[in-house]
Amino acid sequence: MPPEIGDILITAEAIAQRVRNLGGELARVYADRQPVLVAIMKGCVPFLADLMRAWPGPMHLEFVTAESYHGTRPGQVRLALPTDFAYRVAGRHVLVIDDIYDTGATLRTVCDALQALEPADLRTLVLLRKRVASPPAPVAGTRPGPDWVGFEIEDRFVIGYGLDYNGLYRNLPYLAALRQA
Ligand code: 5GP
Ligand code: MG
Repeated sequence: MPPEIGDILITAEAIAQRVRNLGGELARVYADRQPVLVAIMKGCVPFLADLMRAWPGPMHLEFVTAESYHGTRPGQVRLALPTDFAYRVAGRHVLVIDDIYDTGATLRTVCDALQALEPADLRTLVLLRKRVASPPAPVAGTRPGPDWVGFEIEDRFVIGYGLDYNGLYRNLPYLAALRQA
């Protein structure tokens, strides 16, 4: 195994079980609503793909790109929305999906941009939330965070199941701590 892959924090089996539960719960919540899932690229890809298949019921899918991390440190959030996004969101039931909630700056930036497009409602789901945010929070008032959380984790830099370190390790089927030299 590459030396950067540290302790396994959440196994593939535990992820699969939790994603099944979330899929069932969200299917009930959005039973007669045809939500628009807005996925934040790229970290949520494995989570999104598994969740969608654990969620029986009609839905639409859109993507936005947000980047904030530089190595293992949070920075300014850069957000790219498709130009024709307004008509895909206006008046719709929107569920924003991200991989991990740390300071909350990423989700806040995305939600502020989407809210301006006047959805019917806007809710948020993350696979992971850190119990304690990395200081400093770039945007004030962003905790306690999302409507649904897959797992609460300690404040360690995690990789795998979509989460990267310098672009690598997104394809690990489990979540692990990053081991740094
Ligand atoms: P926030 O904006 O809430 O501080 O951080 C959220 C974003 O930072 C996530 O979408 C993710 O891209 C990145 N991030 C935060 N913590 C981690 C981590 O432990 N590992 C990885 N790979 N990315 C992280
Ligand atoms: Mg991200």
